[in-house]
Amino acid sequence: METTTAKQIPDTNGYFGEYGGAYLPPELLDVMNDITSSYLKLKDSEEFKTELKRLNKHYTGRPSPVYHARSLSNHIGGAQIYFKREDLNHTGAHKINHCLGEVLLAKKMGKTKVIAETGAGQHGVALATAAALLGLECEIHMGEVDIKKEYPNVIRMKILGAKVIPVSFGLKTLKEAVDSAFMAYMKDTKNQFYAIGSVVGPHPFPMMVRDFQQIVGEEAKEQFYEKTGKLPDHLVACVGGGSNAIGLFTAFLDDKNVQIHGVEPAGKDFKTGNHAATLTLGKPGVIHGFKCYLLQDEKGEPSPVHSIASGLDYPGVGPQHSYLKDIKRVQYKTINDVEAIEAFSTLSQVEGIIPALESAHAIAYAMKLASKLDKDQTILVNLSGRGDKDIDFIAENYGDMVGID
Ligand SMILES: *Cc1c(COP(=O)(O)O)cnc(C)c1O
Repeated sequence: METTTAKQIPDTNGYFGEYGGAYLPPELLDVMNDITSSYLKLKDSEEFKTELKRLNKHYTGRPSPVYHARSLSNHIGGAQIYFKREDLNHTGAHKINHCLGEVLLAKKMGKTKVIAETGAGQHGVALATAAALLGLECEIHMGEVDIKKEYPNVIRMKILGAKVIPVSFGLKTLKEAVDSAFMAYMKDTKNQFYAIGSVVGPHPFPMMVRDFQQIVGEEAKEQFYEKTGKLPDHLVACVGGGSNAIGLFTAFLDDKNVQIHGVEPAGKDFKTGNHAATLTLGKPGVIHGFKCYLLQDEKGEPSPVHSIASGLDYPGVGPQHSYLKDIKRVQYKTINDVEAIEAFSTLSQVEGIIPALESAHAIAYAMKLASKLDKDQTILVNLSGRGDKDIDFIAENYGDMVGID
């Protein structure tokens, strides 16, 4: 298969194989087409590239290090585990990479305001940060249930100058927040820019967010080669919408000897539906304007989903991941809530790094994989974010598992 490279997909209509596209009313299609053509023009302009490069380096702190986790590797006694340290970025995760790109694009397009939904508040905080820096207004829609659960992030967004709109209909969580943000966006698509938080949504967002994230894999490939003189044998990343995963994977898709693993949340239980293992158990369908694997009921409505990691809690998944699954370039596996908490605790105690619960899914899988491999094998894991945001939740609910009680 020669069609896996980032350069060749998606096609001009935004399709990765049969996935992606833009399932939207005509007036919104025009808006998306306008974003696509502005993006394609800007992305190769020297001014845009130079500005984004400067911000990535001096504001975010890129390149983030590649770190050989010797203690963890010795603790397991198998393959050598390395981390791409996206947790060390300004704001503590990979999301700032695409938020800077999107807000910079919005500004160059003459927009005055960025608008988005947020679940756990991570996308909201990263977007509010980029908007503050670049001088755009920022409006974040968030379900009332999530506002209570993720209060520190609500405060952060407000301190950064963003307006937080509570959403009080339906289940009052992420899906309703998307609906609400979308309605607000439709009122003025001329001055507002809808900044999507992962490699999901209608074309061009899955392509554009991927392009802004692929710096992660480009850096990691060079850094890993410098350290070891080789490419990693395995890559591992967690998959919610799929932005940190595709960010790491893209630079390696044509390296056939590199085995690639995406890790989805198995949540509490497959049987009761308390999970968000979209690629593992979903079927192709349409959500939020694009086609992908989807957890859905008989009518094609998105199912309610669960993961201990709010950032992985989405019934759809990026169209490129859907395609990479079908062509078997990436293997998608699952880790459940308990395994993720155990990995969260192990990494904290053995390596002195508190990971985000999302990233802990990738770490748990890498630990399992490492235990089955020889010591001269290598695994590069995307450590997508730091765990500060999760410590209150962990202390309250799982204190006994992490050594607090
Ligand atoms: C949001 C988030 C994720 C999940 O989003 P992707 O688009 O799948 O990367 C993973 N890790 C962290 C730390 C996050 O904040």
